[in-house]
Amino acid sequence: MALISNDSLEQVKQAVDIVEVVSAHTDLRRQGARWVGLCPFHEERTPSFSVDAQEKLYHCFGCGVGGDTIKFVEEKEGLGFADAVELLADRYGVELAREKEDPKAEARRAQRRRLEELLARGAAFYSSYLWDSEEASKPRDYLAGRGLGEEVLRAFGVGYAPSAWDQLLLRGQRAGFKIEELRAVGLVQRGRGGGEYDRFRERIMFPIRDRRGRVLGFGGRAMRSDQGAKYVNTAETDFFHKSQMLYGIDVAKAEIAKAGRAVVVEGYTDVLALHQAGVEEVVGVMGTSITDEQVAALSGMVEEVVLALDADVAGQEAMLRAQRVAAGRKMRLLVAAMPAGEDPAEMVAAEGGAERFRELLAGAVELAAFQVGLVLDGTDTGSPAERDRALVEVAPVLAGMGESVSRDDLVRRVAERLDLEPAMVMGRVVASQPTAGGTSQAQAPRPAASAAPRRRSTGELTSRERRERALLAMCIALPKEGRPYLDRLSDEHLSASGARALAWLRDHLDDPASDLPHDDDELAGLIAELVMLSRNEPASPDAMELNFLLLEQRRIEAEIAAAGERDDYERRAALSRERATLVERIARTERVG
Ligand SMILES: [Zn+2]
Repeated sequence: MALISNDSLEQVKQAVDIVEVVSAHTDLRRQGARWVGLCPFHEERTPSFSVDAQEKLYHCFGCGVGGDTIKFVEEKEGLGFADAVELLADRYGVELAREKEDPKAEARRAQRRRLEELLARGAAFYSSYLWDSEEASKPRDYLAGRGLGEEVLRAFGVGYAPSAWDQLLLRGQRAGFKIEELRAVGLVQRGRGGGEYDRFRERIMFPIRDRRGRVLGFGGRAMRSDQGAKYVNTAETDFFHKSQMLYGIDVAKAEIAKAGRAVVVEGYTDVLALHQAGVEEVVGVMGTSITDEQVAALSGMVEEVVLALDADVAGQEAMLRAQRVAAGRKMRLLVAAMPAGEDPAEMVAAEGGAERFRELLAGAVELAAFQVGLVLDGTDTGSPAERDRALVEVAPVLAGMGESVSRDDLVRRVAERLDLEPAMVMGRVVASQPTAGGTSQAQAPRPAASAAPRRRSTGELTSRERRERALLAMCIALPKEGRPYLDRLSDEHLSASGARALAWLRDHLDDPASDLPHDDDELAGLIAELVMLSRNEPASPDAMELNFLLLEQRRIEAEIAAAGERDDYERRAALSRERATLVERIARTERVG
């Protein structure tokens, strides 16, 4: 069979909702950033099975199984890898592209990596231009005037595009990139005369990054009022689909998972200002309303999305679609109504603004209730024609909510205000129910037989295994500090499975969750466990050093024993001295920690 293309595989992984998939087999409850429940792979009375919605991983601390969504489907439905991917693709509406195992696929991947590098270089150039150039003093003043400090601007990689027409073009070419490549990522465009020039000039640049922090496009804000559009984005490219992106998701994702909700604002500076003010579960939608793709991207991570948008001007249609997607995914969509003429950035810049904003969030109401309220407030209930129009407008909103207590409440409220029988209002709601096959969730094809999964037992972990797992998890949590430990560790420090995890992590430290080995169950399970540990266990350079030293002590002690068995007393004495020094260092490190 032809291979499923890597792009397709990536799309499936992005699209799946692991909580939803697992929930078909066991009830999950949210517990902090995780979901927990009884393990669907072994008999147990107390839950030791947990799911990380954001990294899309599962792990059972009882029987040791673990992996990603595809692995779960493989095990639970008794399918092979390709069939499991197909089932998930079908369920989440991903069209699978296939490719023969040919060098072209590899070439495409290499090309994609090249373009990613080009975008990263572009972002780095804009950033250094903002901070270092004479020309950027005005935008620096502008940003400072909006109360945005250097720390937050650097965290989001904000930059400045010079006024010259060819800075990016020349630099890109000098670095060995072709004009077509510069155009493919949207940094350069072709003029009417046929020549190429920089797309972004004299603009404050906001790199738009994906969850993993890769730059996929830019938003540029004009510095002069006579400069054409105030905001210009990267044009839609193979890379960049604005309606799917959430600005700031890479920075906000941890806080979003922790809070169990996401706050959605309109603009780049709103996101920056709120993060700076300590409201960190915030992302931007780069428009006046949230798209259904953006809602889908947040599902699984959160139970609740609060829109701090100007909901009066948000497109009615778009909001309805978003609401339907949210209802289908068991998410609540709320509206925190911003005071007229004030945006979140302005609000938090003022004294006590962050508290005011938090109060607005606390007072958020269900999107449907908000929209129904807007319609009712704008209706002259004395006129039968007006009442009829209002009913036509609210019916689809109510239908989009799905059956729920809050919908019944709203139906009663509408009936009362319009002086109608609730049953009649309900009749109109049912009539405007979205038809099947629309944005409502597709039924998952269920395989006939569910094969029994293999049982595996990790048994009790030794203290060395616990220690090595703690250290490897910290390396994942703090990759910059962790990298040197991956180099310092050797197989002699580790258990057999630990050594295999070490070898794998050396190549995948940047994003261990997204590319689990699918031909090695034990390794995939262990990596899933490590990634989940890394997101829950506190990590610090001191704790890493201590764990490393303790593993080193183990290693030396094993070597001392081996030297003793060989009657190599000289070696044993030398090792014993080494051990004594090490024990001192351990004691010092423990005192610091
Ligand atoms: Zn289990």
